[in-house]
Amino acid sequence: MRKPIIAGNHKMNLTPLQTRNLLTELVKNLIDYDQVEIIVSPPFTSLAMADEVLRATDIQLAAQNVHQAAQGAYTGEVSAKMLKASGCQWVICGHSERRNLFQESNELVNKKIRAVTAMGLKPILCVGETLAERELGQTNQVLARQISGSLQGFQQSDLLELVVAYEPVWAIGTGKTAASADAEAGCQFIRSHLKTQFGPKLADSIRILYGGSVKPGNIKELMAEKNIDGALVGGASLKSADFLAIVKYHE
Ligand code: PEP
Repeated sequence: MRKPIIAGNHKMNLTPLQTRNLLTELVKNLIDYDQVEIIVSPPFTSLAMADEVLRATDIQLAAQNVHQAAQGAYTGEVSAKMLKASGCQWVICGHSERRNLFQESNELVNKKIRAVTAMGLKPILCVGETLAERELGQTNQVLARQISGSLQGFQQSDLLELVVAYEPVWAIGTGKTAASADAEAGCQFIRSHLKTQFGPKLADSIRILYGGSVKPGNIKELMAEKNIDGALVGGASLKSADFLAIVKYHE
């Protein structure tokens, strides 16, 4: 019922030419591959090149961030309208690196999602606890606060295309993947919280991804869990062989 999504987050890596080489390799190996939805998220500077490579394919394009305003005097920022015109269908909102390194609050993430959905783009909302919060037993409280705050004021009809990524901060870029049971527990809690906030119909249709050191060697086990509908992949999305192995996890 929920088609799996494998999304690659390139973060601040790859020049436009390097992006072209990586994506060309993916396209070559994924012709007519429709088992999962595939999304790649290069840096802003590579979006035009990525759009050129991906335009005639089913691989979709995401931006890693957006400014909440429609336009104006915000030096260095990029609007949802610009992202749409650059070929993006998706925008990652509230990645933990944005929350922790650039002080993005739930209120700000909420405004960004509003800008994204108003432009007809689809948000990938990232949530997840830090190691300290986990050790204090606050994981569910943190997830609840992030989801409620980031989605406050939205109607069900605004969120039909929402994807949520459960990304425990301690697992991102550290090589420490969450045990699949812990990843499932986080995703299950997120779904139950979405149920409370938006009702069972929407909650059951929303794809929830796990992110945090996903690799070819652990994707199959993660994908076997009931509430994990895909993966947001950082480091391993930069190598075509690894990303392809993750995309084709059930082969
Ligand atoms: C991410 O950037 O969202 C991520 C999960 O990174 P990594 O796979 O490198 O842990």
